[in-house]
Amino acid sequence: MRRKIVAGNWKMNTQLHEGLELARAVEASSGEKTSDALMIIAPPFTHLAKVSEVISEVKLAAQNCSTEESGAYTGEISPDMLKSAGVEYVIIGHSERRSYYHEDNEMLNRKVQLVLSKGLSPIFCCGELLEEREAGKHFDVIREQISVGLKGLSSSDMKNVIVAYEPVWAIGTGVTASPEQAQEMHKYIRDLLAGLFDAQVADDTTLLYGGSCKPSNAEELFANPDVDGGLIGGASLKADDFIRIVNAYA
Ligand code: PEP
Repeated sequence: MRRKIVAGNWKMNTQLHEGLELARAVEASSGEKTSDALMIIAPPFTHLAKVSEVISEVKLAAQNCSTEESGAYTGEISPDMLKSAGVEYVIIGHSERRSYYHEDNEMLNRKVQLVLSKGLSPIFCCGELLEEREAGKHFDVIREQISVGLKGLSSSDMKNVIVAYEPVWAIGTGVTASPEQAQEMHKYIRDLLAGLFDAQVADDTTLLYGGSCKPSNAEELFANPDVDGGLIGGASLKADDFIRIVNAYA
C-alpha cells in the first residue's frame, strides 16, 4: 500500500527563529490530524538541525543536496551532512533548481542515486513548462525527466522514492492543474513506472501533486485515485493552511 504524504517546501523563506516557530506550530497541529497522511517539512538548510529537535510526528526533508559525497565542493551540502542533521527526505529536481541552477536530468539522476545510497528518500520532482503543455509535449517531457532521473534504480530502490508531479505553470502562480489534468498525468506516470520497473513499483510509489495546492482545492485534487498527496509551497508557510491540506484526505 502506498503512503499518503503532504510535504511542505518552505523554499528560501523564514529566518531561523521564524522557521523554528513554524516547525513547532506544524508539529503541534499534527495533533489535529484527521487523515493518515504523513507530514513532511522542508525548511532551508540552515534550519534543519534545530528544526529536527522540535519535531517528531512531522518528518524532515531538505530542499536539495550535492551530487558529491564529500570534499572540495565549496558551498555544497552532502546527503551525509543532511542525515547527520536529522533529515530523512530530500527534494531533488524542483523546477526552480532545474531552471535557475540548470540542473539537468543526468545531474539529478546522480543526486537520486547518492541520496538512496545514504539511506535517504528522494522526493523526485518532474513537471512541464506551459509552452511544452501547449505544444502537446507534456507527456514526452515527463517521460524523459523520469526515465533519465530514475535511471539505474532497482525495484527495491523505488520503495524509497517519492515522485512529485509539479507542472511549472502551476508553481507559485495561483493557477492549479485541474483535478482531471492532475489525474491524467499521475496515471501516465504510474503506467510509465510499470514499464520502467514493474507493476508492483507502479502501484506502491507515492505520487504527489504540486502547484498552487491550497486548502480550497486540496480535497478535489486528492480525491483522484492516482494522487497520493501534495508537495506544497506557499501554503506550507502557514501551519493552519498546511494542516487543512493534510486533512483534505479525511
Ligand atoms: C512548490 O514549489 O513545490 C510548489 C508547489 O509551490 P506552490 O505550492 O507555491 O505553487
